[in-house]
Order: sequence, then C-alpha cells, then structure tokens
Amino acid sequence: MRGLMMPNDLLISDLLEHAVRSHAQQQIVSRRLDGRIVRHNLHAFAERSRQLARALLDLDVRAGDRIATLAWNTHRHLEAYYAISGIGAIVHTVNPRLFAHQIEYILQHAEDRILLVDNSFITAVEAMLPRLPKVEHVIALSDWEDKPKGERWLCYEGLLNGQSPHFTWPRFDAQTAAALCYTSGTTGQPKGVLYSHSSTLLHAMAACRADAIGLGPESVVMPVVPMFHVCAWGVPYAALMAGARLVLPGAALDGASLSELIENERCDIALGVPTVWMGLLTHLRQQGQRLSSLRRVVIGGSAAPLAMIREFDQVHSAFVMHAWGMTEMSPLGSTNTPTPELLALPAEERYQRQLSQGRAVFGLHMEIFHADGQPLPHDGLAYGHLKVRGPWVLAHYYRQADVPAVQDGWFDTGDIASIDAQGYMRIVDRAKDLIKSGGEWISSIDLENAALGFPGVREACVIGIAHPRWEERPLMLIIAESTPIDIAGLRQYLQNQVARWWLPDAILEVSELPHTATGKLSKLTLREHYADYYRDLTP
Ligand code: AMP
Repeated sequence: MRGLMMPNDLLISDLLEHAVRSHAQQQIVSRRLDGRIVRHNLHAFAERSRQLARALLDLDVRAGDRIATLAWNTHRHLEAYYAISGIGAIVHTVNPRLFAHQIEYILQHAEDRILLVDNSFITAVEAMLPRLPKVEHVIALSDWEDKPKGERWLCYEGLLNGQSPHFTWPRFDAQTAAALCYTSGTTGQPKGVLYSHSSTLLHAMAACRADAIGLGPESVVMPVVPMFHVCAWGVPYAALMAGARLVLPGAALDGASLSELIENERCDIALGVPTVWMGLLTHLRQQGQRLSSLRRVVIGGSAAPLAMIREFDQVHSAFVMHAWGMTEMSPLGSTNTPTPELLALPAEERYQRQLSQGRAVFGLHMEIFHADGQPLPHDGLAYGHLKVRGPWVLAHYYRQADVPAVQDGWFDTGDIASIDAQGYMRIVDRAKDLIKSGGEWISSIDLENAALGFPGVREACVIGIAHPRWEERPLMLIIAESTPIDIAGLRQYLQNQVARWWLPDAILEVSELPHTATGKLSKLTLREHYADYYRDLTP
C-alpha cells in the first residue's frame, strides 16, 4: 500500500523562496575581487537570482543546458547556483586551478553553452575559446566598468540591469539534474558527477543537522572550501536552509585576509582543507593573534593533523570537527561532532579521538570490506575498503557509461578505513597511497601526522617507493617552518610515535611540495619523481 501524502517535488528554487519567506533580513556577506565587502540580505539576493534567471532565459537557455562557472566564492557565484538550477539548467562548477588542458577537456566533455567567469580567469578563458565551439556566450562576473574589452564578453551586472525581480520558477521532477562537478582526476581524465535537485536538498538537510555541520539562524558560516569544489561541501544550500549568515571570502584565501574576515564578521563556523588552515595558523602565530569568534573548524579533503587540532583548541578555543567525503558523495559522508563524552575527555585524549573522521551522517551508509568482498568487523582494528551508499552518492559518472561506479549496490571510495564499535571511522590511507613493506601495511597518513608533532615541521608527506628488498619502503619529505629541521632529532622523535619498522628509510627536507587542484598533496607526482630513490641508494 502506498502512503497518502502529497507527492510534491522539492526543488532548489523552493529552498531559495523558503529562505526569503523565513529569513529575508539574513545577510550574505561577500568579498569582491577588489577586496571590498558587499552585503545583500536574502530578499535582495533572491531578487538578483530571479533577475539572472530571466536574463539566462533571454539568452535562450533551456532545461538541461550546462552553464559553467570559473569563479571564486562570491555572491554572484551563489546567485548563479540558484538561478541556473532554478530554471532547470545545470550549474557546472569548474576548478580554475586545474591545468588548462584539463579545463578544456571538461568544458568540451560537458558541452557547456555559457561560461560565467570571474575577472581573474579572463585571460585563461580567452586562450581556450577557439577550442570551445559549443560555447555561445561568455559572461564576465563583473560590474560594467570592469567588463573585459572584446565583443564576445557580456557583463553580468549589465544582464541583470532592467530585468524584473519577480519570476515564477518552473516546476519539474526533483530527480532533474541541478549541478555538475568533475573529480580532480589525479589518474586518467576528470569524471563528471551530476547532482540532482533531490540529492542536493537531502544532502543539505543532512549537513544542517546538529550532529553533522550544525547550522542554525544564529550561525555565521564561512565556506573557505571553494564553490568550485563539490559545491563548497553543500554549504551554499545548507546555510540558506538553516537561515544562517553566509560569509564568502572571494579570492583572498591567505591567512591575513581570512583572519580579518573571520574577526570582522564574527564567523563561528568555517570549513576548508588543511592547507588553508595551515596558512591561517602560521599567520596568526606570526602576529601573536588569537581568534575570538570562531568556535568550530570543519576540516576535510585530507586528514587534519593532530598539531592543527591542538593549536585551534589551545590557542583559539575552536573545536576541529573532522569531516570526510568525496566529490562522488556530494560530498558529506561522516563528521566527528563534539559529543558530551568527547568533550569530557582530558585534552590530549580528546585530540586523539578527533583524528577519527567520525560517524556516518544520517542517510549515508558506510561499510568496510576485505579485498575478497567480505565485510570486516567494526572493532577499530580491522581495516579494509570503505564503501558507501545513500541518496546523495552517485550511481553513474556523467557521459561515461563505460566507467563502472557502483557494484553490488556499493560505491567503492578508494579509501582504506577502520570502523569501531561506536561507528567511528578512521581513514588509514587512500588505497593507492598505502605502503606495502615486507608484506605489511604502513599508513602514510599516520606517519605524516606523527612528523607534524615535531617542532618546526610545517608540512610532511610520506610516499611508498620501490625497494629492492622490502617491495616498498616509506620516504618522508618535509617542509620546515623557518630554520632547518634536525633530521636526527625527528627520527628519534618518530621512534616513540610509530612502530620501528614504519620509520622512513630516508627523510628529506624540501622547499615545496606539489598539491593537486583541490589542495591535496600530489603523491602521484612525488612517487614518479622519487621512483628510483631507494634502488639508486642500494649497491
Ligand atoms: P575529493 O573528491 O577531491 O573531495 O576527494 C575525496 C577524497 O579525499 C576521499 O576519498 C579521501 O581520500 C580524501 N578525504 C576527504 N576527507 C578526508 C578526511 N577528513 N581525512 C582524510 N582524507 C579525506
């Protein structure tokens, strides 16, 4: 027997109009590319989104069209999110930090008809346009005065100007595609993940919950994670759903700019990858400055190091909440929220527990499996392939029917993890980054974390490279804070942190480490570069 409730589809435009009805005066604060701060309340923001919707329809945008953005976290980018999905088209966020050939591949593969471009990326886009025959219009996300010269460029504010702020959003099925994001593609070509209205809204509901990110009308939330990376982890939707104040940092992601914005706007929740927090903490340390409003820092994308969890707590009274997920999961999978039990623990014990990536959020089911396909016990010790399923996990990659995504109802995340009896999951490594030495596994993440506890180590990266005797052995690369690192001292220190046979055969100090376009250490590049390091050392 079927239930007898209204079968109404919830759409992203419903979210926008709800936010206006319930929180019209709530603000969206945005840093423009010239550094100035602009504020719109939700009433004005919705009017501008409706004007953009009308302007896009005037450009003959039709349902299902892909419209790409190459843009920072700003109010205009947010308006594009709502206007494009609202009319049944697809907002395709492109990561401008990718190599030009990857961006071109992505735009060609998605067949975007329109590009919305921040002024920072105009030169790069102009160079690509001759190879993008499907692109009909390019719109600069700028004021009229800053519009780039050249006939091809339309001006965003010019398009909005004169449009009516009233608009009746079209209705359609909630499984309709709303947004498209390509994975960063460290191996092979990037692959597209196509989110629906339904998956986006369910994900936003899950993200708002107190036992997930925890957002309400009293929150002032700053997504430092870019809106071109998995829709800024869903915050642009979750914040409007919760009636939270949204603070968008624009292009200025350096420590000084972020700390100024956090303090001035009294942000209490901020989200981002470890690399940006490293920059912020270094700046604050150098200035001898403490943050006064930040209460929660949500860290994901890569493992949050112990030293970072400790410093945020001890110096800034901010709780680091580890979150885990991936592009294919919209991205939220698990969060390590501050429970009363956790907060009652002595500090150092608590920090250790905060290293866990937390428990599954409601709606997302995760399980660990042995390579033979058997599920593994939840004892905190056994580790294996982490697989997930849920209404915001992809079923297929976009236009890549030949790439299998789901098997036996599970999506294999490519991560190796353990889960304990309370459901806390811990990422041991990416499957391809685990180091196999003499038949035993070594976690590169645990070794990196251990090294970051040694004074003066700013960044650490461990890779497994071929070894004539042990199959693979770890090699550690470190960046020093300021003065050179005492390598012998670090080795001594590591002996007390990890099993003896885990100790890297070599520790090298380097001046920089390569990162991927989403801020992760690019271990593939390093593995290639150092491939023969141990072979060459061995006679
Ligand atoms: P992406 O699709 O670019 O967001 O990358 C997803 C991958 O990032 C995951 O499969 C993990 O390997 C890694 N990742 C995400 N969050 C965390 C976390 N909190 N700790 C460790 N690794 C993470």
